[in-house]
Amino acid sequence: MAEQLNILEMIRKKRDGGAFSHGEIEWIVHAISAGSVPDYQLAALMMAIFLRKMTDEETRDLTIAMAESGKVCDLSSIDGICVDKHSTGGVGDTTTLVLVPLVAACGGKVAKMSGRGLGHTGGTLDKMESIPGLGTEMSVDAFIRQVREIGCAVIGQSRDLAPADKALYHLRDVTATVESVPLIVSSIMSKKIAAGSEAIVLDVKTGSGALMHTLEESVQLAEAMVRVGNLAGRRTMALVTGMDQPLGTHIGNALEVKEAIDILAGRAGGRLLEVSLRLGSMMLVCADVAADEQAARKQLEAALKSGTGLLKLKELIAAQGGDPAVCDDTALLPAAAHIVPVPAQMSGFVAGMDTTALGDASQRLGAGRRTKDDQIDPAVGFVMDVELGDRIEAGQPLAHLHLNDPGLAAETTPRVQGAIRIAGARQPAPPLVYAVIPDGAAAQ
Ligand code: URA
Ligand code: CA
Repeated sequence: MAEQLNILEMIRKKRDGGAFSHGEIEWIVHAISAGSVPDYQLAALMMAIFLRKMTDEETRDLTIAMAESGKVCDLSSIDGICVDKHSTGGVGDTTTLVLVPLVAACGGKVAKMSGRGLGHTGGTLDKMESIPGLGTEMSVDAFIRQVREIGCAVIGQSRDLAPADKALYHLRDVTATVESVPLIVSSIMSKKIAAGSEAIVLDVKTGSGALMHTLEESVQLAEAMVRVGNLAGRRTMALVTGMDQPLGTHIGNALEVKEAIDILAGRAGGRLLEVSLRLGSMMLVCADVAADEQAARKQLEAALKSGTGLLKLKELIAAQGGDPAVCDDTALLPAAAHIVPVPAQMSGFVAGMDTTALGDASQRLGAGRRTKDDQIDPAVGFVMDVELGDRIEAGQPLAHLHLNDPGLAAETTPRVQGAIRIAGARQPAPPLVYAVIPDGAAAQ
């Protein structure tokens, strides 16, 4: 059949609102992988999909075909149900470093393949690598062995995982076709499925720092990911959580590791801990370790209180070549040479934040990359002194910049000030969790 199909017909079919068959989708993904479709036709196809959308069955077929375009990890030799978590990307969002050790301390198995920061959002690998000595590259065999031995591992996504997604994502990025539900679902879920996880918990962000800005679109994305995960035979659940402000107080690689350690040591809490507990509870339920989310939460809270979560983080760091002493003394993490306050320009209440702009400000300080090959500085970033709803007086700090180049304070200060809106009246704080999409939601 393959020879009878051609890309022009596929473009025309989707342009006119048709749905692709399973065979047509497999043919398209093979053609993409073989590099036999010129970019201009692929771009037209992406735009047709963007405008005409895809059914859940098409999205499932696309997801599975993309997952099978490269290597698929087999985690079946690990006892129990391996559970993965994925966030659509945020600022000050280091839930992975909090919940992976907590979930593993409760008996969950977490084999996690993570990404690097790109654009305004941070990446787990960059954060982990700010720990002296720690590596995130290992063979799949070593990865599986580590999960069997200590219950968790966090490594870089293998290069040959879902290669069709790499080709498509690059093209979508330059053709204004990123924000398409079926294309995002297939991009993310193909990588999760290829990484071998048997159960997947998703954290879909909404708000000023999120991929999808409106709540409606974020909920649609979360529901579609759960449906497609289920159709692909994976237990899948999702939360839609707020990115109306950075999730934690610390933004920047070593700074976020410090906040995660402070949380696991019981010295910090707040929104980052709450979202981590919610996601962690879903992971334990998905993995059949806990009967329901209430019971799961009690287990996680016990691991936090007893310190077994922090001990698990130490084991994880040591297993990956890092210095576990950072968990006892966070001063061993890379630290910036200068700490500079950003003063509020007026008195009032913190009424809104442009979270993407805050992420961009941190990236420009050197915490993130503008291009794939940029070097990052693990020590730099900033620490927020305020959150939405706080009362602030003119001159008080909104945040403290952590810099190695003091010259960057002059350009970063107005960026941070401009990203934080101060108003005369207190606004109600936005919710932290906007929606919960349970496993099996598609069946209803
Ligand atoms: N992240 C991905 O991996 N793919 C998308 O399409 C969007 C965000
Ligand atoms: Ca298993």
